[in-house]
Amino acid sequence: MAERMLKFITVPRKTPEKRAAAERSGDFHEIYADFIDAKATEQASRCSQCGVPFCQTHCPLHNNIPDWLRMTAEGRLEEAYALSQATNSMPEVCGRICPQDRLCEGNCVIEQSGHGTVTIGSVERYLTDKAWEQGWVKPLVAGEARGQSVGVIGAGPAGLAAAEKLREAGYDVTVYDRHDRAGGLLIYGIPGFKLEKDVVERRTKRLADGGVVFKLGFEVGKDATLEDLRTEHDAVLVAVGVYAARDLTVPGGGSKGVVPALDYLITSNRLSLGDSVPAYDSGELNAEGKDVVVVGGGDTAMDCVRTAIRQGAASVTCLYRRDKANMPGSMREVANAEEEGVTFEWLAAPRALSGEAEAVTGVRAIRMRLGAPDASGRQSPEEIPGGDFDRPAQLVVKALGFEPENLPELWSAPDLKVTRWGTVKADVRNQMTNLDGVFAAGDIVRGASLVVWAIKDGRDAADAIHRYLQAKVGAPALIAAE
Ligand code: FAD
Ligand code: SF4
Ligand code: SF4
Repeated sequence: MAERMLKFITVPRKTPEKRAAAERSGDFHEIYADFIDAKATEQASRCSQCGVPFCQTHCPLHNNIPDWLRMTAEGRLEEAYALSQATNSMPEVCGRICPQDRLCEGNCVIEQSGHGTVTIGSVERYLTDKAWEQGWVKPLVAGEARGQSVGVIGAGPAGLAAAEKLREAGYDVTVYDRHDRAGGLLIYGIPGFKLEKDVVERRTKRLADGGVVFKLGFEVGKDATLEDLRTEHDAVLVAVGVYAARDLTVPGGGSKGVVPALDYLITSNRLSLGDSVPAYDSGELNAEGKDVVVVGGGDTAMDCVRTAIRQGAASVTCLYRRDKANMPGSMREVANAEEEGVTFEWLAAPRALSGEAEAVTGVRAIRMRLGAPDASGRQSPEEIPGGDFDRPAQLVVKALGFEPENLPELWSAPDLKVTRWGTVKADVRNQMTNLDGVFAAGDIVRGASLVVWAIKDGRDAADAIHRYLQAKVGAPALIAAE
C-alpha cells in the first residue's frame, strides 16, 4: 500500500481546473471541470491513511474517506464508489457543495502539516459522476412490500434521503412538496454554477422510477392539514426546511426594487431549467444593467452576488456587517465571487434606502466595528459614528437569513411542539416530535444549516421510522401472545 499512498510530499495538492472568471461569469454552468482519471487517482494517493482519520470524524456522515481514497488510488473505482455511497445518499452533491474547508478537508492532517489538504470533495464528486456515467448507480429497488406507508413533507435533501431508504425497506412512500419540482433548495435555491440542475434531477428521477410517489404543487397547510396526512399514512416525516426570510427593517426597505433573495434565486434557477418567468422579463427580478447591492454574508448572499454578475449587472456590491473572518458563507465562494468582480464592503450595514417614484436608487450604509462579545461569544457589530457612505442601487437583494415558518398555526396543528426559534422539537434519540408517528429532519429541526446535515438527518429519520413501524406491527402480535 505504502508506495501507492502517502504521496503528499511529492505530489502537490491540485483541485480540478476552474474556468477563468471572465468566461464563467457569462453562464450558469458549474465552474469546476471534472477530474480526469489520472488526476483523481494521483490526488487520492496523497492521503496518509491516518489511523484516526480526522477527515472522517468531521464529515457529518462519517464517510469512510481513507478507504475510498485508497481504492481510488489503486484504480478500484467501482468499489470506491460502492463504499462512498454506502454512507451518503448524494455523494456527488456533497462533493460539489459541502463547505469542505470547514468539514472534512479543513481537518485533514496534511492540511494541518502545511502540505495542502487531500482534495476529498473533488474525489467524492468524481467517483459518483463516474458511477453515473458507467452505470454503476443501480435503479432503486423497493424492498418486499410491507403494506405500510410513510408521508414525507418536503422534497429537499432531508426528505429525499429518507424517502430512498424507506422505499428500499419496502414502505409505500409519498413525498409532498409545494413546489412544482422536487429537490428543495438543491433545485430552486442553489444556482447552477455550484450545482447543475441535471445532477439533482437524475437523483429524483431515480426515486420516482423506484416507486416513490411525488405529489408536487401540494402544500401542507393549504391542500391538507398535518392531521390529514397522519390519518393517511402510518408515519409522517416533516422535512420542510426554513423559509421565513428575515426582513430589512430600514427606511425605504419596502421600495420597489428591494427583493427577497429566494425570489431572486428561484427566478434565475427557473430560467436555467427552461421556464419563462414574467418577473424576469419585466426586469423586476433581473439585474441586467443595474447597480446591485446584496445585504448579507451567508451562502445565500454569495449565490445572489454571483447570479447578478451572470445576469450582466453594471456593478455588484455585498454589504456585510461583520468582517471577512466572521462571515458565515464558505471562503471558497467568497474567493470565487471576488474573482468574478464582486465588491465586498466588510463591516458595513445599510441604514436607509433612497428612492424616486417609490423605486430604490441607492443605499446609505454605515461603517461598523466589532465590539464586545455577545452571549454567544461572537463580537457584536456596532456603528462607527459619522461612518456613512452611499452606493447607487437599482436592485437591492435581502439575503439576511431564514427562520422557520409558524408550522403549528399554518398546519392547524397547535399541539406540534416547537422551540422558541420556531424549529420543530424532535427527540435526539429517534427524531420523533411530540406527536406519535410524526418525525422531523433537516433545517426545520436544526435551523438553516447544510445539505450534508439534511442528508444525515433524513437517513437517521428513515431508520427511526423503520424501527417505529416495525414495533407498530409487532405490537398486536406481542399482545396476542400474552
Ligand atoms: P429544503 O432543501 O429547504 O427543502 C424543503 C422542501 O420542503 C422544499 O422543497 C419546500 O418547497 C418544501 N416545503 C416547505 N413547506 C412545505 C409545505 N407546507 N408543504 C409542502 N412542501 C413544503 N448548503 C450547503 O451545504 N452548501 C451550499 O453551498 C449551500 N448553499 C445554499 C444556498 C442557498 C441560496 C440557500 C438558501 C441554502 C444553501 N445551503 C447550502 C443550505 C442547504 O440548501 C439547506 O441546509 C438544505 O437544503 C436543507 O435541506 P432540507 O431538506 O431540510 O430543506
Ligand atoms: Fe466532505 Fe461533505 Fe463529502 Fe463528508 S459529505 S466527505 S464533509 S464533502
Ligand atoms: Fe487522508 Fe487527510 Fe483523512 Fe488523514 S485526514 S485519512 S491524510 S484525507
